[in-house]
Amino acid sequence: MAKVFVITGPSGVGKGTLIRALRERVPELELSVSATTRRARPGETQGVDYHFLSDDEFERHVTAGDFVEHAEYSGRRYGTLREELERRVAGGHPVVLEIEVQGARQVRDTLPEAVQIFITPPSEDALRARLIGRGTDDADQVAKRLDTAREELAAKDEFGHVICNDRLEDAAGELERVVRDALH
Ligand code: ADP
Ligand code: 5GP
Repeated sequence: MAKVFVITGPSGVGKGTLIRALRERVPELELSVSATTRRARPGETQGVDYHFLSDDEFERHVTAGDFVEHAEYSGRRYGTLREELERRVAGGHPVVLEIEVQGARQVRDTLPEAVQIFITPPSEDALRARLIGRGTDDADQVAKRLDTAREELAAKDEFGHVICNDRLEDAAGELERVVRDALH
């Protein structure tokens, strides 16, 4: 069976940035497109960055058992659609899930063979600076995400691999090593 990699860690830690770097280094990796009820940010595309769903549509998928995992994060819902993951796995490509910690825990239970990687920031100040610097969240969202981050960081030892994203090149190199080890 094709490998599944779960990349988790607090919002703003650099998961998306690291995954972009990883996919340049390991091009056969595919990224599973999540579903969410949050609104698209400027520049985000339906079906590419997320499947953007209404609350009702999301709830219908929950009721139908269509999610491998789903969670509420910062007042919005996020989830991995089974069809999305299974289609990619069936294609034989290793798949990356970029999800928050509650979802990663669910995947650990339902897909224990998945490789779990937790990304940490070098410090809380650095995480705050990244969230503010990204410019996608207002002050209230940044504060909420930092509160959630404290809880998420307390869970890091539950995960098989922990990588600190201090210098991007170093963290990307470490991530590539973990992924290549699992693939070979
Ligand atoms: P996440 O996907 O975990 O929410 P992002 O990949 O969007 O995080 O990164 C959040 C912000 O931090 C972005 O502006 C990104 O350019 C920046 N960033 C990512 N990695 C680093 C790093 N190692 N050093 C400094 N800034 C970084
Ligand atoms: P954002 O709103 O910044 O895109 O994402 C917020 C958080 O939701 C991030 O930590 C991101 O990793 C997480 N997330 C994205 N997709 C999913 C998903 O399918 N399931 C879960 N559980 N979390 C997700």
